[in-house]
Amino acid sequence: MTAQIIDGRAMGAKIKAELRDEILRYSQVKRMVPGLVIVRVGGDTASGVYSKTILRIAEEVGVNAALEQLPANTPADELCSMLLRLNNDEATHGIIVQMPLPTHLSQKMVADIVATSKDIDGISPRSAGNLFLGLPSFLPSTAAAVMEILERMHIALSGKRVVILGRSNVVGKPLSMMLLQKNATVTICHSRTVNLARFTREADVLIAAVGQTNMIKAEMVRPGAVVIDVGINTTPEGGIVGDVDFATVRRVAGCLTPTPGGVGPLTNILLLKQCVQAAWNVLDVEKIDHSSG
Ligand code: NAP
Repeated sequence: MTAQIIDGRAMGAKIKAELRDEILRYSQVKRMVPGLVIVRVGGDTASGVYSKTILRIAEEVGVNAALEQLPANTPADELCSMLLRLNNDEATHGIIVQMPLPTHLSQKMVADIVATSKDIDGISPRSAGNLFLGLPSFLPSTAAAVMEILERMHIALSGKRVVILGRSNVVGKPLSMMLLQKNATVTICHSRTVNLARFTREADVLIAAVGQTNMIKAEMVRPGAVVIDVGINTTPEGGIVGDVDFATVRRVAGCLTPTPGGVGPLTNILLLKQCVQAAWNVLDVEKIDHSSG
């Protein structure tokens, strides 16, 4: 068997085109253009690249996006005031605060302040709680990207055995909740799981979000399984590889995301998609709970 390779870049281009059309159509009817603000406090080269990528995609799809760059020594109360102002700004529908923050600032404080209705990367405890309760919620964008792939590939989930490797708050845990909502039978594995292969071999859908180069080998995969590789690892030569040993697993899996070119290109696009949704939600209050945040 040779796996169908899922082309994240092509899927991303399609979603961007859909968003562009949607914004063109709806912004006239709804008299509103979705707006996004990225708040960056200090920041390194990697976070600068991330901001630029989001701004570029925003421009491509027609979201009004701006970067608020603050100095690394910005006091907590100043950051707080800025976030409260953005919460009340009608032209801002999505707010992203770039992580990591300088050590004197707390991620929890940010997560507590950003309005749930504008928390387009699903970082706040309220967003996580809504997800846990099966209520409408924005999702961490990587988890949203995985769900988008499964949906667009028409992967059946109801009654299927899904095994997730990794239990982080941004990937493994939110994915498990979303997959439960789709009636999958979900198992989460982590660094203390004994005999990992015993679980992975049972998976109809295997999602690896670990951060260990090529750790999923062909013999750990059930023939025909859907394998989604979230991992991003750097090789000593400076290349990028996933958690899945692509060369061997592709001979066993039914379909498989490559790294690079699989989940990665979709993550930022899904963030923009959620920002657009946040804008439409303002006019359609039933879709998301605006009473909180
Ligand atoms: P994380 O917070 O470091 O979590 C890693 C998880 O993997 C933890 O739950 C850890 O278990 C588990 N783990 C570590 N070694 C393991 C092993 N040998 N066997 C089984 N489980 C193991 O990472 P993350 O933020 O979720 O990211 C995971 C990977 O996805 C990273 O490579 C990251 O770069 C990548 N990523 C990609 C995207 C994208 O856009 N494609 C976005 C975000 C992250 P414990 O909980 O027991 O420590």
